Amino acid sequence: MMLKQRNSIEMRIARSLLFYTLFTVLLLWVFQVLFLNTYYHALRRKSIIKAGSEIISCISAENFDERLENICYTHGMCTLIIDEHGTEVNSVDMLGRRCLIHSPAKFSLPNIIEPVLKGEQNMLVLTVSDKHFHNETLIYAAAVTNPQRERVIIVLNANLDPVESTVWILKSQLRIITAVLVILAIIMSKIVARKLSKPIQNITKKAKRLANGDYIADYTGGGITEVEELAQALNFSAEGLSKVEELRRELIANVSHDLKTPLTMIKAYAEMIRDLTGDDKASRDEQLEVIISESDRLTALVTDLIRTSREEQQREYKKEAFSIKQKIDDIVSRFSQLYPDYHIISETESEKAAIGDTESIGQVLYNLISNAINYTGSDKTVRIKLFETPQAALRVEISDSGRGIPQEELPLIWERYYRSKNTHQRPVAGTGLGLSIVKSALTGQNLKFGVRSEIGRGSCFWFELPTENN
Ligand code: ADP
Repeated sequence: MMLKQRNSIEMRIARSLLFYTLFTVLLLWVFQVLFLNTYYHALRRKSIIKAGSEIISCISAENFDERLENICYTHGMCTLIIDEHGTEVNSVDMLGRRCLIHSPAKFSLPNIIEPVLKGEQNMLVLTVSDKHFHNETLIYAAAVTNPQRERVIIVLNANLDPVESTVWILKSQLRIITAVLVILAIIMSKIVARKLSKPIQNITKKAKRLANGDYIADYTGGGITEVEELAQALNFSAEGLSKVEELRRELIANVSHDLKTPLTMIKAYAEMIRDLTGDDKASRDEQLEVIISESDRLTALVTDLIRTSREEQQREYKKEAFSIKQKIDDIVSRFSQLYPDYHIISETESEKAAIGDTESIGQVLYNLISNAINYTGSDKTVRIKLFETPQAALRVEISDSGRGIPQEELPLIWERYYRSKNTHQRPVAGTGLGLSIVKSALTGQNLKFGVRSEIGRGSCFWFELPTENN
C-alpha cells in the first residue's frame, strides 16, 4: 500500500515539482545571496572602466568640462585629472567627504597610481579600503594625451556600497518565496495528478469488465494523448475479443452441426443394418458405404479443425529450397489412388527449386486439389500446372471444370467457415475451413495467390513461389 502510494502519479509529480522548486530557490539563493557582493563589485568595475573610456573619448571636445560633469553624475563617481607631476588639471567632486582622491590626507594617490604615472601601465583599476568609513572604494587611473599634447592621468573614484542590508532583504523575501513555491508545487501536483489519473482510473475500471466477457469498445482518454492512445488500443482489443468471441460461438455452432449430421447418419445406417437389412448383402454394402463415407467426412472435419488451431498459433514459416514438382507429383499420385475414377492431370514444366515452407505448401496443394476434386464437373477432370512466369517465379495453377464460383462470392470463399450457398452437383464433405487455411499459409509467407472462375466452366486457383534466384 505504501509502495503503491509512493509510486502514484500524484506522488511522482509532487516529487518532481518539489525538486524543481527547491532547485530554483537554491539557484536564487546562490546568485542573490552568496554571490551578490562579487557580482556587484564586477558591475561597478565595469561601470568605472566604461566611465573612463567615455571621458577619454571626449577629452578633445570643446565642452569637455560640461561632459565630464555629466559622466561623473551619471556614474556616481569623482574625477581628478592630473599631469605627470601630480598637479591638478581638472576635477569633479561628486562624493564629498567620501571621496578618496579629493582627500589627500586619507591616502597617497601618487603611490597608488604609480605604474600609470610612470608610464609602466596605461590603465589600472584597484579596490582600496577606506578606513575612515569602513567601506571599500574603486580607484581607476588611465593615461591619455590631451589636445595640448600633454600626457595627463584621469583618476576616477567610485564607492562600493555595502550589500549586507540588501542581502538581508533578499533573504527574508526568499524565505517567503520558498514557502509560497512549495505550497504551490503541492497544490499543482494534486491538480495535475487528478487530471491525469482520472481517465486512467476510468479506463482501469472499464478494462476490468473485459475479464467478465464484456467487450464494449467505449474507452476514452480524457483528451490526454497518451491515454487516448491507450484507450484506442483497448477499444481495438475489445473489438478483437468480441470478434473472437463471435467466431468461437460460430465455431461451436458449425462444428456441432457438422459433427451431428454425419453422426446421425452413421447411427441411423448402423441401426438399419442391425434391425432391417439382415443378410441382404447388396443393400448392406450400400449402407456400409454410407457409414464409411460419413466417417471420412468426420475425419476430414477433425483434420481441418486441428490444422486451423495450429494455424492460429502464429506459425513460423521456414524458407527452404524444395522441389515443387516433386511435391505436386507426390500429392497427385496419392489423390489418384484414392479417386481412381478421376482424371488428375499434372503438367509440371519446371524442375526449378522453389523457396518456401515445404510442409505448409504441401497443405495448400492438398486443400486446393481436394477442393478441385470435390467441385469439378461431370468429366471428373482436375488439372495442375507448374510453370515459370516472366518474373522468374514458379506459378502453380489448379483448375477444375465445375460450375464455377459467382463473382460476388469470390472474396468470401477465403473466409473461415464460408461455404457456398450454391448446391453442388454432389453433396460435398467440407467445413469451410480449407481455403482459409490456404490463405493464412500463403499470406503468412507473403506469396501471391488468387482465383479465376467462370460460371459453368470451372475455377482456377493459383499461387506463386519464389525461386532460388529471385
Ligand atoms: P469447403 O470445406 O466448404 O470446401 P473451403 O474453404 O475449401 O471449404 O471452400 C469454401 C467454399 O468455396 C466452398 O464451400 C465452395 O463453395 C467454394 N469453393 C472452393 N473451391 C472451389 C472450387 N474449386 N470450385 C467451386 N467452388 C469452390
